Amino acid sequence: MSSNLFRLALSSAFVLPLSAWGFSYEAPAVTPEVGSGFEEKPGWENEHFAVAAANPLATDAGFQVLKAGGNAIDAAIAVQMVLTLVEPQSSGIGGGAFLMHYDGAQVQAYDGRETAPAGADGNLFLENGEPLPFMDAVASGLSVGVPGVLRMLEAAHAEHGALPWAELFVPAITLAEEGFPVSQRLHTSLANDEALRQDPMAQHFYYDEEGEPLAVGEMLRNPALAAVLRQIAEQGSDAFYTGAVANDIAMRVQHHPVRPGSMTTEDISSYTAVEREPLCTPWDQWEVCGFPPPSSGHLTVMQILGMQERQPLREAPLDSGVPSASWLHQFLEASRLAFADRGRYIADPDFVAAPGGDWASMLAPDYLDQRAQLIGEQSMGSSAEPGNPGELGTAWAQHPDQPEYGTSHISIIDEDGNAVAMTTSIEQAFGSRILADGGTNLAGGFLLNNELTDFSFEPEIDGEPVANRVEPGKRPRSSMSPTLVFDRDSGELVASLGSPGGAAIIHYTASTLEALRDWGLNAQEALNLPHAVTLGGDVTLEEGRFSEATIAALRERGHTVKEGELTSGLQAIVRQSDGTLFGGADPRREGVVMGE
Ligand code: GLU
Repeated sequence: MSSNLFRLALSSAFVLPLSAWGFSYEAPAVTPEVGSGFEEKPGWENEHFAVAAANPLATDAGFQVLKAGGNAIDAAIAVQMVLTLVEPQSSGIGGGAFLMHYDGAQVQAYDGRETAPAGADGNLFLENGEPLPFMDAVASGLSVGVPGVLRMLEAAHAEHGALPWAELFVPAITLAEEGFPVSQRLHTSLANDEALRQDPMAQHFYYDEEGEPLAVGEMLRNPALAAVLRQIAEQGSDAFYTGAVANDIAMRVQHHPVRPGSMTTEDISSYTAVEREPLCTPWDQWEVCGFPPPSSGHLTVMQILGMQERQPLREAPLDSGVPSASWLHQFLEASRLAFADRGRYIADPDFVAAPGGDWASMLAPDYLDQRAQLIGEQSMGSSAEPGNPGELGTAWAQHPDQPEYGTSHISIIDEDGNAVAMTTSIEQAFGSRILADGGTNLAGGFLLNNELTDFSFEPEIDGEPVANRVEPGKRPRSSMSPTLVFDRDSGELVASLGSPGGAAIIHYTASTLEALRDWGLNAQEALNLPHAVTLGGDVTLEEGRFSEATIAALRERGHTVKEGELTSGLQAIVRQSDGTLFGGADPRREGVVMGE
């Protein structure tokens, strides 16, 4: 059946069985992992293609699409739809994403970031002139941005897809209709969340009468999501951005019982995905390509790596297999300086001009030379100031620190060498805690993001505007860092990687790149390394992973150090020198890699 005929058949009154959709899908027998917090993973070597995602069912959907002749974009769509169902706490069709794509010739950056509604302005998160408590803003209608994932995937599919759009929805629809076993991570996220229980539909769907969350391994069906995905499969993303689904989203945001938002159906129908110029930065023998603003990811990652390169280490970067005190000091100092620039300059480029008119000014070799010279033997503590990479039209105030969480990363390399690095988010775990059934009146649905809390709550400080303040139609600044790496001599693709983790995504990505290039580690070993994070103040070291001696050495150098959980969710696929693809998935989450 041609795909047009097939769409016609589907838009008629009866519902075709999925077996008629031209893609045969069988749900795998998956045993949910028993979450230990840190699960050793083997790493996976494949010859031809590989897909890495944060949940085994999602990875499997991508794998089956690749096996059926789909390419990297096709597989990414199937993975995202399954993630909406099985990892609803992290990403989904109610959220946004950034997708880097390589088609063997060019690198493209697709921006599916959420936008602020036309009715939102700098006062969005102020009450009586004061910023709202963070969680009050998150679990509300105020925080919901117009979702961008579907328009973005549709644009990428129109340009690069190999299999028909509808077929890519078959795995998610099948699992939503037949049910899937609740994973350890979903169970734990539900158990730990109080705010989600305040949404009556979510409460009813994810918890029992006593308020107990769904158990690990319990089969969960999601009829509302299945019905919405069927419509999107049949009619394209318009089925989401107009009509019953869009009405339902706007209605839920506007009628939030505590803090309603202003989002209208016009805000939703006018959403457009944007193709942006990717940023590709030479880094010794590698060319690292990442996302430009509105993400701060690539610029901040490459500032850190660039400053470190200019400060040769006197001691080995690794000490008993983990980063040494000397390396950590240098990495953390570079992070302090890079985060100071990030806080001052980076925001949606459709609203805010780059310093000197070009974001590359922040990575200019002379500028990084100057910045690296500020790193000394003792820590600068919390005194890092932004530099002056180029002339500005506006004097921006410094962005205050705000938490960011949630999110999922997908890496794929297909048989023809096409590659995807896609980081996708509803911001916090379970986003705004608003479950939307898309007007179906069926149980379940999808969660709406709280991405607008990635804007600064304070529009101005001491009379100066914050670059990343709320404005109508603007995209909030992100830290997401989907990354594609190339060999500068051969031009060949070397790796696809990325992670969730809020602002710490930047540290996770930067240190993984170093581990892969310089420390002789494979993708799994690199992802196993312990993390260290600072946004400019205190340092957080991953709990129990560094020696007392290392911690003491950092304190001696003036860092204020504490230990804590740093739950990255890295995924990486690396092409090794023999041409095989070695994939790793973060031991801190449920991800796996599959391929052939
Ligand atoms: N909302 C964050 C961002 O776009 C990501 C949140 C997370 O990864 O935890 O940067």
